[in-house]
Amino acid sequence: MQNCAVVGINWGDEGKGRMVDLLTEKYDVVVRYQGGGNAGHTVVNEYGKFALHLLPSGIFRKGTVNILGNGVALDPENLLKEMDGITEKGISLTPDNLKISDRASLLLPWHRDLDELEEKRLADKKYGSTKQGIAPFYSDKYQKKTVLAGEIFNKDAFRVHLKDLLQWKNLTLEKVYGSEPYTMEMLDNWISLYCERLKPFICDTGSFLKKAQDAGKSIMFEAQLGSLRDLDFGIYPYTTSSNTLAAYAPIGSGFPSARIDDVIGVVKAYSTCVGEGPFVSELFGDEAEALRKAGAEYGAKTGRPRRVGAIDLVATRYGTRVQNATEIALTKLDVLSYLDKIPVCTHYLVDGKMTDDFPFPTVLDRAQAVIEYLDGWKCDISKVRTFEELPIEAQNYVKFIEKSISCPITYVSVGPERDSIIIRNGEVA
Ligand code: GDP
Repeated sequence: MQNCAVVGINWGDEGKGRMVDLLTEKYDVVVRYQGGGNAGHTVVNEYGKFALHLLPSGIFRKGTVNILGNGVALDPENLLKEMDGITEKGISLTPDNLKISDRASLLLPWHRDLDELEEKRLADKKYGSTKQGIAPFYSDKYQKKTVLAGEIFNKDAFRVHLKDLLQWKNLTLEKVYGSEPYTMEMLDNWISLYCERLKPFICDTGSFLKKAQDAGKSIMFEAQLGSLRDLDFGIYPYTTSSNTLAAYAPIGSGFPSARIDDVIGVVKAYSTCVGEGPFVSELFGDEAEALRKAGAEYGAKTGRPRRVGAIDLVATRYGTRVQNATEIALTKLDVLSYLDKIPVCTHYLVDGKMTDDFPFPTVLDRAQAVIEYLDGWKCDISKVRTFEELPIEAQNYVKFIEKSISCPITYVSVGPERDSIIIRNGEVA
């Protein structure tokens, strides 16, 4: 059976949660391999509407095993809140359907504080962090200054390790930011309220995944955010602090020899970007407001209005390449139904020269969008289920994107519900 990765091609919020929820039916195991509670996947299904931040989107399927890999920023407090919210809706979470890597580093209570303190210090130079502690967490992980989930099984040693970290971290909190120190009592509270409850779910997920693959089970790797937020290949420093690319999935899942046969890149039919940083095809004013409203573009985690723009084919082509996408799911095509003419960013103009190549991050500030307008279809397409039934203008829009990015568009999503999907044989002319 084939393994796949479902990844974002752009800035995130492309509708990955919706695609994973649809596709999980075909997979035995779903793994989150990077990121933390700083982004949200929205899933609409028979149980209701959910904003998942840490839990894999396969959590709603009976019989699917969901894994949080070692690459994830594991925030025990937020994870438990999310788990409680899901169990309240009647979904059962047991060590059989949810497994947490013993090698996942824990996001500690001070990471969220540090995120907030640093954004405050940066003032108008801030990165636009969601203040979930992700950047301080990953920098501490790479400094080897956090604890692994599996350490909880030896509580005495876990406490000693935390005490050392506490002393070190208080230096920064007090001396750099003039903030309140943490105490061991606070950490003991955190251990008993959260870490202890996660214990039954913590195990060697690498060994589980290896056995699953050897037994012919199919594995889906689920990414958070998109190519342009990848720490190494994105719009640094307006990236996230982890690697969002499919290539990182084997490492971050705890199964370095994992095979990925298929990479499904998720692209939204227009662009959105949360937070600061360059956004070449951004729209402003009434044009932006109309698109934001039509697409309900407000952050799943923060409720912040998202910046919106024309689909950016330069960025999308780059994102498709670095993800090594084998097929594309185009989402939210229905949102564009109100437009007479649809703006498409086909090229960039940099220092007077046209380019198709996505530039180095600092050059992006000088890039201007070259916009072409395609005909709109001006009718409701949300009930359409085959490509041929789509208005010809909508078909042309999909084919135009497909040709520009040289990757087959095999799914076209026309609504948030599980079945609002058109499946087709993509063709790259
Ligand atoms: P993710 O992080 O990539 O999963 O994306 P988000 O959850 O932030 O954003 C996707 C949003 O669009 C969610 O509210 C989905 O329910 C919704 N959505 C996904 N696909 C479609 C679609 O084809 N049409 C419409 N109208 N909404 C969609």
